[in-house]
Amino acid sequence: MTDPHDDRHTHDGFEMPPESGARFGTDRDVDVATLSALVGAAFDRCGPCQTQRLDDVQGDPLTVTRLVELAAVTVQGMAGGIPQRMLTVDGPTTYTDPFRELVRAGVDARDDHRDMYAKALAMTDEQRRQAADDAMDLLIGYMVIGT
Ligand SMILES: [Zn+2]
Repeated sequence: MTDPHDDRHTHDGFEMPPESGARFGTDRDVDVATLSALVGAAFDRCGPCQTQRLDDVQGDPLTVTRLVELAAVTVQGMAGGIPQRMLTVDGPTTYTDPFRELVRAGVDARDDHRDMYAKALAMTDEQRRQAADDAMDLLIGYMVIGT
């Protein structure tokens, strides 16, 4: 796949091994190249590249699901659990509905993430973008703390 943006500049991606979508009940593969590029651009705080990569990822339910899972697992690892405001759909929160819906599906399902993927599959591109955007913000926040 050619990407005209790559001609201008690139960001260091993050090491991510190839990953199948089997856990999520699909025979597609996670687009780790785009996921890695998105995290790399966000880590460098490059707005244009983040926007570009979110464009790339929003139509890919599996990769968005994996990204949200990554964020949830990171929060769980750092904070010892998932804060209630990342789960409840009612009440004050800074997180978007699509993000919370996916996190909650993932938490409810424990190791079986098919429901999470099914929810992402049913979302519009705009909803998946909101979920991906929230997940990125969280991941980058924790990465910055960790460095
Ligand atoms: Zn950039």
